[in-house]
Amino acid sequence: MAEAFVSLIHFVYNIAMDSLIKTENLKVIYNRGKDNEFVALNGIDIEIFPEEYIIFFGPSGCGKSTLLYTILGLQPPSEGKVFINGRDTAEFTERDKNEQTSKFFGIIFQNFNLIYSLNVLDNITLPEVFIDKPLKQRKEVAFALLKRFGIETRAANLPGALSGGQQQRVAISRALANDPKVLLADEPVGNLDSESAGVVMNTLRDINRDDKKTIILVTHDPSYLSFADRIYYFKDAKIERMVKNRRGVPGGEPLKPGQAYEPVNELEKLARVHAYMNVPQLKAWSLTNYLIQELTLNQTERLERAMENLLAGKNSEHEFFEFLNKPYSEGGVGLYKTTAVHYTVMIGRILREVKLFVENAKILDTREQKEKLVALLKEFLLEEYKGELKPAQMERLQKVIYNRVFGVSTIDEFNRFLDWPLADGGVGLNIMTAERMAEKLEIILAQVYQAQK
Ligand code: ADP
Ligand code: MG
Repeated sequence: MAEAFVSLIHFVYNIAMDSLIKTENLKVIYNRGKDNEFVALNGIDIEIFPEEYIIFFGPSGCGKSTLLYTILGLQPPSEGKVFINGRDTAEFTERDKNEQTSKFFGIIFQNFNLIYSLNVLDNITLPEVFIDKPLKQRKEVAFALLKRFGIETRAANLPGALSGGQQQRVAISRALANDPKVLLADEPVGNLDSESAGVVMNTLRDINRDDKKTIILVTHDPSYLSFADRIYYFKDAKIERMVKNRRGVPGGEPLKPGQAYEPVNELEKLARVHAYMNVPQLKAWSLTNYLIQELTLNQTERLERAMENLLAGKNSEHEFFEFLNKPYSEGGVGLYKTTAVHYTVMIGRILREVKLFVENAKILDTREQKEKLVALLKEFLLEEYKGELKPAQMERLQKVIYNRVFGVSTIDEFNRFLDWPLADGGVGLNIMTAERMAEKLEIILAQVYQAQK
């Protein structure tokens, strides 16, 4: 017993040591001691782990960029500590610092920061971090990156001749050329139209999912929050709260159009991913994560408990609503009445959808019965969709959901198929709709799987 305890401690300790980036009570004060002294960061404690996608979110001027540059090593802390790979950066040698800024991190900016008198390829090969690599090899790497991001035909152009979205992809290529562990992105789509922004956001998502690079993205735009695994919310030089997003099912090579996987039970797989949670926790967790963005951490915890009670049948929907609406000081979640009503209605609807699904899922012998179940799911997913789908898109959506539910495609592929163009075998939805739908389907599947247990 004691031995098990010791090994548990050891395990936890090792995990704690595994963080890539960590800050302790970090403070950054500009113009210290002068009239215009300004505290840009005040008591920041964050911890970031390999392969995470992190967003720093908050209004302009709250210190997000300052934290990014402090982590990068360009802005020294005024107080507190920054650890990279478990090492205190205050003890870094010049060589360590060089590696930190040039090898460990790659960075992209809102305004691309390209050199407009050099062509695209040279922009990527230029940074002196490459000096130890022969030029030919640098060019090969650069060209391969351009090709990957679909802009290799622009290699000889000056950046000014490219669209904003293409320029940002050049900047991403430059940031990746040295194969960094972590990609930092400071408002990378702030200057782009929504379509180019979508392309760049997808590119960053792929770099996180496929290349397993850790990403820290700074934004003040809430519409991108769903991309992250975790979000740090900033306010007035402090971190107000940290929120975890729903986690996708990891692993799996991307599926090429027309290629099928060995059928696996997707529902089982989902539960395996969340094996560290017990059944009531898993149910409460997946639904809570659907709602949380607006709440503080303490409110979220209370909401999660309320959700557990609701799902376990210990509380009615009405009691759930009352707990949500009850003032925080009296032990409730402290939501406004309209918000509490909204949440209760939304959850009620999902629970009824799940119930209906479970009933229909009992008889799944024939292809026809399966297609019927998929049609039902499709209706659920389209419920909140405001746009109109063409018949061909509806048909494709049916097929894509079928493949997801009956184990042919993974969550990532499902997500991708939703926003791929119709001509390439996708549904042709816009990226935000696709993310939202994929999320909703996973929630329903998680609930259904646990309901069947
Ligand atoms: P964000 O990225 O969240 O918009 P920043 O980190 O850029 O915020 O800036 C935080 C605050 O610090 C802002 O009020 C900004 O004006 C101030 N600030 C940023 N850089 C400097 C600097 N070099 N000297 C003085 N003040 C600065
Ligand atoms: Mg900024």
